[in-house]
Amino acid sequence: MFSVLLELPEFKVVKREIFDTHYFVHVEKKERKERCVYCGFHSSSVHDRRTRKVRDLFVLNKPIFLIIHMKRYRCQNCKEVFSSFFESVGSHQHYTHRFRQFIYEQVLGTTIQDISRKYKIAYSTVERIFYSVAHEKAKEQEAFIHERQKDHEITLSLDEVAVRKGHTYETVLYDADLGVVMGMHQNRHCASTMELLSVKNVVIDTHS
Ligand SMILES: [Zn+2]
Repeated sequence: MFSVLLELPEFKVVKREIFDTHYFVHVEKKERKERCVYCGFHSSSVHDRRTRKVRDLFVLNKPIFLIIHMKRYRCQNCKEVFSSFFESVGSHQHYTHRFRQFIYEQVLGTTIQDISRKYKIAYSTVERIFYSVAHEKAKEQEAFIHERQKDHEITLSLDEVAVRKGHTYETVLYDADLGVVMGMHQNRHCASTMELLSVKNVVIDTHS
């Protein structure tokens, strides 16, 4: 019997099965009560049980599938039925968060097609995972920048970038602290610069 640490602390392993091409690891959540998604009341009254199969990482090149033995609870306060929440897997996902992250990182170094072949996962699946993780990361980044800009004074930096040598210039507006581009314009006329700045509430101290 294989014994590998699952490293998903929310679960305890209840059973392991080995097949020629994959492993099944049956798990259940350690926590025996759950917070109602509708009213926030803690409930331990089990409504029913079901299983859910989600793909996880690999052990010795064989994929692991988690068979999650999950409970649905009946809230004693508002009487609604709700499912357990999992840290390791989203509510409608067929893959663990770490598997999705793994696929995303793999694709970054090569192509969707390569990863699809290498791990024998349908191209459309790899593609969907890659773009959904990329989208989540972009949103996180956006939220982070928004947060930072809310409570910090922004140090703006305007640069002209030669797009093609000796030809077109673009005016680029940076947040110098965060090192992020806030906007670009295709020429270096004053009007373009003002247009860039007008998207933010900025007080400009002009020297020239
Ligand atoms: Zn409730």
